[in-house]
Amino acid sequence: MDVKNFKNADRIAFGRGSFKGLSSIITQKRLLNNNFFLFIVDQYFADKDLFYRIPAEKGDVVKLINVDPHEPTTAQVDNIRDEILGSIGLPSGIVGIGGGSIMDITKAASLMFTNPGSSTRYQGLNLIKHPGIYHVGVPTISGTGAEVSMTAVLTGPEKKLGLKCDSTVFNQVILDPELTASVPPDKWFYTGMDTYIHCIESENGYLNNAYSHAYAEQALQLCRDVFLNQHAGKTPGNDDKLMVASMMGGLSLTYSEVGICHALSYGLSKILHEKHCYANCLVFQHLEDYYPEGVREMKQMLARHQINLPQGLSKQWTEDTITAMAKVAYALSHMWNHAVGPDWKKKITIEKIKELYKRL
Ligand code: NAD
Ligand code: ZN
Repeated sequence: MDVKNFKNADRIAFGRGSFKGLSSIITQKRLLNNNFFLFIVDQYFADKDLFYRIPAEKGDVVKLINVDPHEPTTAQVDNIRDEILGSIGLPSGIVGIGGGSIMDITKAASLMFTNPGSSTRYQGLNLIKHPGIYHVGVPTISGTGAEVSMTAVLTGPEKKLGLKCDSTVFNQVILDPELTASVPPDKWFYTGMDTYIHCIESENGYLNNAYSHAYAEQALQLCRDVFLNQHAGKTPGNDDKLMVASMMGGLSLTYSEVGICHALSYGLSKILHEKHCYANCLVFQHLEDYYPEGVREMKQMLARHQINLPQGLSKQWTEDTITAMAKVAYALSHMWNHAVGPDWKKKITIEKIKELYKRL
C-alpha cells in the first residue's frame, strides 16, 4: 500500500529578525566537504541592504540569479553545479535566498552536486541516487510553499517536472517575514493566491483528509486575514501570517493534492511560459463550477486589492496552442484523480480541457 510517509524540513526557524541567526546556524556545517558555502540569491537584492547582511566568509561564493526571464531550468542548475565543482569543488552547503524560483534552484542544485549527469535524468519521483549536500532555504516572498515541499520544479527540454524525493526537502528553513517587506503589491497578491489555491484544491478532492484539512483550514483563515478581513493588506502583521500560511498550504497539499487549476496552470507555464502563480490566478477565476466558494471569495479578494486580471486571452491563441496546453494538463493524472475521482477519464477529455482553456 502507498503510505504517505513524508520527510519534513529538519529544522525551521521562524520570526522577525531570524535571518540574523543564519551565520551561527551554518557555522558547524562549514567543516564539511571543501569548507565553503554557496549562496544563491535573487538578483533583486543585489543593491539592497539584505545583500550586505549575507553571512558570506572568505572563500564562499555568492551567486546572483535573475529569476524574471523564465522559471528555473535543468540547464541552469546543471551549469551552476558544473561551474562550482569545476573551479572550487564540493561546497559544505548551499543557501538559497529568494522566492519559489530560488528555493527550487537551491534544492535541485543541492541534489545535483552529488548525482552525476544532467538534472533532466532525475525529473520525477525518487530517481535521485545519492543524498544532496546540506541546504538551507530563506524565502523572501510568501505563497508557493516551495520552502517546505519535497519537490524542486524544473523546466527541461521535454517536461516541466520536479526532482522529487526525501533529500529534496531543506535541512534548514529560515522564515523571517521582515524579508518580504519589499514585495510589490502585484507579486504579493499573485504569489499569496498560490497558497489560497493550494488550500482550496487540497480541500476539494478525493485525497483530502483530517491531516491535510487541518493545515488548509488554518492557512485559509490566515489568507482571509491577509487579503479580505477588516485589517487586510500588506502590513508587517499580515506578512507574518502569509509566511505561515504559505508553509501550511504547502504541507496541506503534500498530504493531499492540488487539482484542476494547477493542471491547467502547468499547461500555461509549459507552452506559453506564464509564471506559476500568475497563471494560477488567470485560470482559477474561471473554475466556479468546480470550486464555487473558492472562486467567489477569490473574486472578492481581487476586487478588494483592485487587481484586474486580463480577460479574453484565449481569443489570441491558435487551436494548436490550446491543444498543446490541454495535453500537458491531461498528463497530470494525479491532479485529475484527486479533483475528479478515480474514474476521471470518463469525465475529462482533451476536448473538455480545451473548453476550460477557452474560458480564459
Ligand atoms: P519568484 O521566485 O519567481 O519571484 C517572483 C518575483 O518576486 C521576482 O521578480 C522576484 O525578484 C521578486 N521578489 C522575491 N522576493 C522579493 C522581495 N522580498 N522584494 C521584492 N521582490 C521580490 O516567485 P514565486 O512566485 O515565489 O515562485 C514561483 C516559482 O516557484 C515557479 O518557478 C514555480 O514553478 C515554483 N513553485 C514551486 C513549488 C514547489 O513546491 N517546489 C510550488 C509552487 C511553485
Ligand atoms: Zn502552486
